[in-house]
Amino acid sequence: MIYKEYGKTGLKVSAVGFGGMQFDTEKDPQVNAQLLQYAWDRGINFFDTAPKYCKDQSEEIFGLAMQQMKSVRDKFYVCSKSMPTEQDTADKARQAVEKSLQRLHLDKLDFFYIWCIRKMQHYELAMAPGGQYQGLLMCKEQGLIDHIVLSTHLQGNAIEQILREQKVEGILAGINILNFPYRWQGVKTAYEMGYGVVAMNPLAGGLIPKNESELTFLAQKGESPTDAALRFCISCPQIAVTLNGFTTEQHIDQACAVADKCKPFRQTDIDRISNNLSHQMNEICTGCGYCLKDCPQNIPIAAYMQFYNDILLFGKSDEQMINAIDRHHNWGILVERPAEAADCTQCGNCQEACTQHLNIIDRLKEIAAWEKVAQENKNQKK
Ligand code: SF4
Ligand code: SF4
Repeated sequence: MIYKEYGKTGLKVSAVGFGGMQFDTEKDPQVNAQLLQYAWDRGINFFDTAPKYCKDQSEEIFGLAMQQMKSVRDKFYVCSKSMPTEQDTADKARQAVEKSLQRLHLDKLDFFYIWCIRKMQHYELAMAPGGQYQGLLMCKEQGLIDHIVLSTHLQGNAIEQILREQKVEGILAGINILNFPYRWQGVKTAYEMGYGVVAMNPLAGGLIPKNESELTFLAQKGESPTDAALRFCISCPQIAVTLNGFTTEQHIDQACAVADKCKPFRQTDIDRISNNLSHQMNEICTGCGYCLKDCPQNIPIAAYMQFYNDILLFGKSDEQMINAIDRHHNWGILVERPAEAADCTQCGNCQEACTQHLNIIDRLKEIAAWEKVAQENKNQKK
């Protein structure tokens, strides 16, 4: 295992973190709890959970493990979370921390997340006078938590904006070998300012292991695309911890094996991947953002084009894209969208600026049709 500094905290964290969001809830909770001990024995010292994970069982499973790991409690770090949209007062924020501590059988949480910041309004809500942040500061003063951190689905420039306010000590964001340009500005800023960066979703929500045959260009000789994707995050100097949602001991072994012989990606590796992405699918959006500057409609073009990458990478059907866009509207990269695909006036500014020379206008037309069906489906369900 390799260990890295978590920002300026002085903590040395394992490059592989235990994400408590993938337990098999059909199994006995004690069997799941054993996985944490197993991970600890393999060198993992960063354990991440939250209420609601795994049908709300994750914190309880962690609690069982914490009781068994009491003797080494000062040698590992535990994180939990609460959302500003639910814990919107200081009092509710404190109650959420106390509830997590009780379920976890702990006196203190090392990291506590302002959870699931999908829009800037969520962050503003957390920071409002008498809001969640104030409650967390009180918890910190009382020794219930050590570090206040933030988990986000925003894109890089919005993450940077938040970090510049210097209210939190680190971020958790979805970063992987396929989407990293989208959040890179935030990751880079966090690292340069001395904040910890934790990557979640290193396998793109299972998309990489499921599509290994299309993604062989990610890997070096003798390496699987899944291992390459893990190595990409684990070895990245700017990322302190890569969270993996573990279900089995084999998953832990696989991530630890990657970390044990971790060879960082060199710039040439990254160039090779970018080249392959554009050679094999020369229509891939790289997330560079050049198209955004002159859109009179303020359409989040880069986010839409990154979403469209799925068609090029994986040949998804219309039905899959309709479901995917609905998901992205609620949870993904399109939650915060000042305008929709149908608002495009076809002025052509973006196509002129696009570094990949993509036919953005036609793609937005296709996407607008998917968005329309997704909206109709939603209306029917009401
Ligand atoms: S063509 Fe459409 S998306 Fe592109 S800049 Fe013009 S309005 Fe915006
Ligand atoms: S300029 Fe082109 S490649 Fe870059 S983000 Fe915009 S659409 Fe994607």
